[in-house]
Amino acid sequence: MPKTAETVLEINLNHLEHNYRYLKGKLKPETKFLGVVKAFAYGSDSIKIAQKLEKLGVDYFAVAYVKEGVQLRNAGIKTPILVLHPQAINFTELIECCLEPSIYSPKILMEFLEVAKELRQKEYPVHIKFNTGLNRLGFWENDIDYIKKKLEGRDEIIVTSIFSHLAASEDLNEKDFTLKQISNFRKITQEFDEKINPKPFKHLLNTSGIINYSEAQFDMVRSGIGLYGFGNNVKIDAVLKPVASLNTIISQIHKIEPGETVGYNRAFTSEGYQITATLPLGHADGIGRQYGNGKTYVSVNGQKAPIIGNVCMDMIMIDVTNIDCQEGDEVVVFGGNPSAEEFASTSKTISYELLTSISQRVKRVFIES
Ligand SMILES: *Cc1c(COP(=O)(O)O)cnc(C)c1O
Repeated sequence: MPKTAETVLEINLNHLEHNYRYLKGKLKPETKFLGVVKAFAYGSDSIKIAQKLEKLGVDYFAVAYVKEGVQLRNAGIKTPILVLHPQAINFTELIECCLEPSIYSPKILMEFLEVAKELRQKEYPVHIKFNTGLNRLGFWENDIDYIKKKLEGRDEIIVTSIFSHLAASEDLNEKDFTLKQISNFRKITQEFDEKINPKPFKHLLNTSGIINYSEAQFDMVRSGIGLYGFGNNVKIDAVLKPVASLNTIISQIHKIEPGETVGYNRAFTSEGYQITATLPLGHADGIGRQYGNGKTYVSVNGQKAPIIGNVCMDMIMIDVTNIDCQEGDEVVVFGGNPSAEEFASTSKTISYELLTSISQRVKRVFIES
């Protein structure tokens, strides 16, 4: 492994493969696998991740917005791409790039039908999203007759799949609610199959759904965070391998006298003779101010060094008083110890937010053997 010489987000494609195989192993062999690569593949690099997953044989990709799908097509990705949250203004581009929209409301259905007709599409694949309790996007169960009516005599689109999304698949205290969502979705699939032809395929589970409710895998699952190494569960986190690791170096070491302060607004005051190290990353790189002032630690030569004072835009300062280190030494911000999940939890957020916050300014390096 090359020695870190600046701030880099290391992306381990072997770990991605490990996680993919682990999650696949939880499923029936015939269940399709959709890799969620929205938000730069959870802050890593959507093109490299999609290329690797395509080689591994995933059946589908999902992104949130049309723009993200266009980037994948421009990079040569051929696998079908579901766009989870498209807006009508982008429908022409979506069709030009062979992206497949989630149709989540009567309005978006009518808008898509219009564009598909204008562009003379025949049986363009779409995916209908049902709301089963998350109350975010989707048709209601009793909209099936409306959908049937709107599709009658129209051949511009074809419903390739229907799907829904679980609200609390990671939280076993909410098991009753999740089981109700699953049975609601099952009912929707049955009614849809009775009323609308040809029968679409069905999907419901995200990563924690795969782990906790694999009996509801239907025809496909949609996994994001699990591919990147987290399962919202300590036991699963121990088996999965983190894909992204944020590493940096010590730019400068300072010896601080008792009573001196460190950083903006003099937020940290030294109690004795202390040693601090300055690192070349800050809130503009995705390490927000909430991680400062002793809340969170990074790892220097295997030892915990708390972030002290306020996080700056391009720098953080850490306390290395009791750590044997020098300028140029490597620092693990997250990825090993602490893990992204541990780092995030110090400020009451989740690995999803920390990972997707790592800004495009941070250099990405790829590891694959
Ligand atoms: C983001 C997203 C997923 C992926 O969820 P994970 O918890 O990361 O596996 C699946 N389905 C939908 C609709 C999503 O928006």
